[in-house]
Amino acid sequence: MSTTPDDTAEPRVLGVAVPTPLRRLFDYRPCQPAPEGGWQPGLRVKVALGKREVVGIVVECRATSELPLDRLKPVTACLDAQPLPADWLWLCRFTARYYQHALGDTLHQALPVLLRQGRPLEARTRERWQLTEAGRNTPAERLGRARRQAELLELLRQHPRGVVGSVISAQGFTRSQLRALADKGLADSVEEPLTAAPAPRQGGLLAEPALTLNREQSAALAELHQGLDRFHPCLLQGVTGSGKTEVYLQLIEAVVAHDRQALVLVPEIGLTPQTLARFKRRFRVPVVALHSQLTDAERLDAWEAARAGRAPIVIGTRSAIFTPLARPGAIIVDEEHDGSFKQQDGLRYHARDLAIARAHRDAIPVVLGSATPSLESLVQARAGNYRHLRLTRRASHHAPARLELVDLRGRPRQGGLIPPVIDAIRQTLAAGSQVLVFINRRGFAPTLACHACGWLAECEHCDARLTLHRQPPQLTCHHCERHYRLPDACPDCGSADLRPLGTGTERSEETLGALFPDVAVHRIDRDSTRRKDAFEQTLAEIRRGEPALLVGTQMIAKGHHLPHVTLVVVVNADAGLYASDFRALEHSAQLLVQVAGRAGRAERPGRVLVQTLHPDDPHLRLLAESGYDALAETLLEDRRLAGLPPYRYLALLRLESPREADANQLAGEAAEALRGWLGERDPGVDCLGPVPAPMERRQNRYHVQLMLSAARRAPLHEACAWLTHWLEAHPGARRVRWSLDVDPQTLA
Ligand code: ADP
Ligand code: ZN
Ligand code: ZN
Repeated sequence: MSTTPDDTAEPRVLGVAVPTPLRRLFDYRPCQPAPEGGWQPGLRVKVALGKREVVGIVVECRATSELPLDRLKPVTACLDAQPLPADWLWLCRFTARYYQHALGDTLHQALPVLLRQGRPLEARTRERWQLTEAGRNTPAERLGRARRQAELLELLRQHPRGVVGSVISAQGFTRSQLRALADKGLADSVEEPLTAAPAPRQGGLLAEPALTLNREQSAALAELHQGLDRFHPCLLQGVTGSGKTEVYLQLIEAVVAHDRQALVLVPEIGLTPQTLARFKRRFRVPVVALHSQLTDAERLDAWEAARAGRAPIVIGTRSAIFTPLARPGAIIVDEEHDGSFKQQDGLRYHARDLAIARAHRDAIPVVLGSATPSLESLVQARAGNYRHLRLTRRASHHAPARLELVDLRGRPRQGGLIPPVIDAIRQTLAAGSQVLVFINRRGFAPTLACHACGWLAECEHCDARLTLHRQPPQLTCHHCERHYRLPDACPDCGSADLRPLGTGTERSEETLGALFPDVAVHRIDRDSTRRKDAFEQTLAEIRRGEPALLVGTQMIAKGHHLPHVTLVVVVNADAGLYASDFRALEHSAQLLVQVAGRAGRAERPGRVLVQTLHPDDPHLRLLAESGYDALAETLLEDRRLAGLPPYRYLALLRLESPREADANQLAGEAAEALRGWLGERDPGVDCLGPVPAPMERRQNRYHVQLMLSAARRAPLHEACAWLTHWLEAHPGARRVRWSLDVDPQTLA
C-alpha cells in the first residue's frame, strides 16, 4: 500500500471504499484543493454514490482507472487533514481479504459511528483551572469584598493539580468569577482531553504493588519479558485461579514502562466492573475501556486516545481489536477459547485470529490466555508456533475440584435434581457455604407438551421448540424471539393436560426455593439480568457471603470470582455431548471446566457434581478422570481422522431465502459452478453439499449451505474469492441472501 510521494502528490484517480456490500472500490477524481499532506490512503472523503452522499475512505491513489477519466466524478470534499492510522487501515484490509468481505463495509464497521458519519477525528477537551504562581502567593483576604472569588481561590489552592471546569461550576461558581481571577493573573486554565488526559506521573507507574509471583508465574513472565520487541505468540494455559491475570498485569507493566501500549481483549461476559477495577487499581496511568455501554461520543474519545497514544492500556471486547494504537506494545486475549470473539453475522471475523495477525505485523508479543485453550491454539503450541506457558497451581493452593459424575438413570428428580445431589446441597448450605446450580437453559422448561397426544409447542416461523416461561407466563422462541400466548388446551387434540417438559433456570429456582425455604435463591440468566445493574446488585449480594443458592446459565459460569461457592451442581451435562456440531464437545468440555472452576476459589475446597444420563460416555469420563488436556488430545485425534479443523480449514457458504426453491436453486448452481472451476485446477479444495442447514427454517426463511474444505489456506481462499465473485455476478443471487463464513465456529 505504500505509495511513493510522487504518486500521492497529484494522483489522477482515487480508489475509494464506500459503505456497500460490493467487493470493489469506486473511482473518483480528486477535488481541489488537495488536503494539506497530499492525497493518501486513509483519508475520509465525501462522495456521491448514486443519489446518496456517503463517507468513503481513500484506499488507492492511482494514475489510471478502468473508466475514462472524464466520466469520473470528483470527490465532494476531503474530511481529514491527516489520514486514519495506517495500522488500522492495514488491519481492515487484511480482515476484508481474509474473510472475503467487502472492504467498504469492513472499514465502516471498524470505525466508531461518529467517524463513519464524518465527524472530525479529534479529542473532546475540557478546561482544567489552577492557580498561577501569583495566585499561590495571594492570600484570600487580599480579594476584599469579592467573597466568591476568594472562595474560588481557596478551592483552587486545595487542588494543586487543578480543578476541572465542570466541577467548579457544580460548586456554584460562575464563569465571570473564573474570568475575574484570570484577569487578575491569579488563575489560568489549560485544555486537556476528556479521555486519558496525561496524568502527572508522581511515584511511578503502579498505584498498587504487584504481587510476588510464584515459580510458574515467574517463569511465564520471564519468557514474556524476553520477547517484548518481536512477534512472540504465547499460549498461557493456566487453571482457573492460577494467576493468569496477575501475569497479564505484570506484562502490561513492562510494556507501559517501555512507553508502549497494551491492548487487552476479554470475552463479552468478562468485561465487568470488577475486571476494569482490577486494572485501574493497579496502574496510575489511564485505562481506557471499550464496552457496549459507551455513548458514540465516548467511543470516539476512547478510539482517539488510543490512536494518539495517550491511552497506555486499552481493554475491550471483540471489536476492540480494531482500535488503532500509536505505539503498540502487546496484545492479550483473555479466555481465548471463548465463542464471543467470533462475530456471527455480517463481517464474520475472529478477534483472536486477528490479534495474531496484528501482532505479527507490528512485531509485538501476543498472549492467548485460557484454562481450556481452543484446539486451534493447542495445535499451534504443539507445533512450536506458539510458546506454551503453563500455570498448574492455584494461588489459593486448593487444586481445582474434580468433576464427579452422578448417574441420573432411573432416579426420581425434583427440579431436575436427584436425592443424593439435593442432600449434598443441604449439607453445603448447612456448613454456611453457597451452592451454584448450573443449567444452560433459561426459562421454566425447554418446552410444553400435551400428555394426551404428544403435541409439542413449536415456533410457527422456525423449526424449533418453544421455551416455556413463567415470568411472565408465555411461550418464547429463542431463535426468533417471538412470543406466544400460553394455550389453555392442546391445539391438536383439545386435551387440557399440557405439561412443562424438562427444566430451565426458572423451574430450578422455583423447586430449590420450595426445598430450601430459608435460603436466598438468586437466578442469574439473560432474563433476570435484563435490567441495567441487576446483575451487579445480585453479585454484590452474593459476595456478602450468606449461605445461598445461585441458579444460573453460563452467564455466571464464566469469569466471576465467587469466593463462597464450595459446591457446583451441573444439572445436565448431556446436551453438549450429543449435539451434532463438530465443536460441540470441545465447547461443552470448556464450559464444564469453567463451571467447575467456580467451586472453592477462596479458602475452602470445592466439589463439583455433574448429573448425566451417560456416566459411561468415554469423553465425559476422560474429562472427569484425566482433565481437559487428556480430552483435548482425544478430540484432536478425532478431528484429524474426520478431516476437520484445526487439521483442515473450512469455509461455509450460507444461503437463505423466504422461498425454499430459490435458495436450493442458487446453492445447486453455485456448487456446480464451483466444482467445475475446482475440476479444472485441482487445488485440493473439497466442495460439500449443498445441504439444508441444521435448522432449515428460521424466521420463515429457508437455509441451505455449501461447505468448502482444504488442507491449506491459500487454495481455500482462492476458491472462496472465486465463489464470491461468481455469486456477485449471478442474477439469481439477488433473490437469495448469502454470506461466506471463513473459519466458521459452528456449522449451524
Ligand atoms: P486467573 O486469571 O488465572 O483466573 P487470577 O490472576 O485472577 O487468576 O488470580 C486468582 C487469585 O489469586 C486472585 O485473587 C489473585 O489476586 C490471586 N493471586 C494471583 N497470583 C498471586 C500470587 N502470585 N500471590 C498471591 N496471590 C495471587
Ligand atoms: Zn394433544
Ligand atoms: Zn422462531
